[in-house]
Amino acid sequence: MPRAPRASHQVIVIGAGIAGLAAAAEAARCSLKTALFDDGLLGGLITNVGSIHGHPDTEGGTGADLVNGMLGAALEAGVDYQPGAVTALDRQGDYWRLTESSAPNVILATGAELRTLGVPGEAELTGRGVSQCAFCDGGLYKGRDVAVVGGGDAAFQEALHLATLCANVTMILRGLKPRARPAFVRQAADLGNLHFRWQTEVRRITGGDGVDAVQLQELNSGETESLTVAAIFPFIGLVPRTDLVTAGCHDGGGLTVDQNMHTDQPGLYAVGAVRSGHGGQIAHAIADGKTAALAIWMAQSTR
Ligand SMILES: Cc1cc2nc3c(=O)[nH]c(=O)nc-3n(C[C@H](O)[C@H](O)[C@H](O)COP(=O)(O)OP(=O)(O)OC[C@H]3O[C@@H](n4cnc5c(N)ncnc54)[C@H](O)[C@@H]3O)c2cc1C
Repeated sequence: MPRAPRASHQVIVIGAGIAGLAAAAEAARCSLKTALFDDGLLGGLITNVGSIHGHPDTEGGTGADLVNGMLGAALEAGVDYQPGAVTALDRQGDYWRLTESSAPNVILATGAELRTLGVPGEAELTGRGVSQCAFCDGGLYKGRDVAVVGGGDAAFQEALHLATLCANVTMILRGLKPRARPAFVRQAADLGNLHFRWQTEVRRITGGDGVDAVQLQELNSGETESLTVAAIFPFIGLVPRTDLVTAGCHDGGGLTVDQNMHTDQPGLYAVGAVRSGHGGQIAHAIADGKTAALAIWMAQSTR
């Protein structure tokens, strides 16, 4: 009787953001043969953040340093890191198969993309005044007026950074209350060059070689305003990258999981920003990754 083909790994982690790096390192430390794939921006969303908040080990440190440290730890633990996008994921028999690799367990850590505004002018002016990285592009607008859209932690964090460089920063919020942590809101309220437009939406971004202005609409009165700015930075939430999984387990946003980060498909786990109910911070992403890796190890060792 022909022998069933062996899997190349015991665990495959897709995505080397914070959740994937934590999952892969933990799995390898449990002596599980682990592969880790990433499609380019190693480290994911946190990589370009210049000053991390809310995580004790890394308070005020850079995202790049955190990612480098976590990658070093994963490699040292024996993770087989393979740069490259995973484009298909199929379950065949007892294994999940990628093009050249296979494993009984896959930890999906594909994270999320920053949501865009979807208004006229945004796509055309991206890279010429529309940016989603204040730490990368803020220096280009030194001494000028800029706008930030959103009311969560990321929007406030980036606006506070821009306020150290730019003449004026206007935050545009749809609601009346920010969702950001109180320390960020207090810091922002104390700055003379940080201004707010509450209950306001961006309707259009105008410009030529760069951004000239944003057209705003106050939601209660319907009144419109043209705000002259050289750049606009939207931080209005995340869109989970779930495209590798077509069946089951979506809840319309991220992937639904149980307390072990297991989806409703055999051997398929989802961790970090790709899963529904992700806490939003790197501490949550790390905890998710470790939880999935340990659940796989426990299942293997009791088999
Ligand atoms: C501007 C900003 C500032 C933030 N600041 C803080 C902070 O100060 N403190 C804090 O605790 N949190 C902060 N966060 C939140 C934190 O960044 C996220 O919670 C965390 O990074 C999520 O990690 P993740 O690994 O789940 O996803 P991601 O960071 O999105 O990583 C996913 C990775 O998977 C890769 N990938 C996706 N699809 C594929 C594929 N098909 N094949 C191979 N690879 C793939 C991506 O390229 C990426 O590298 C911030 C977020 C933003 C946006």
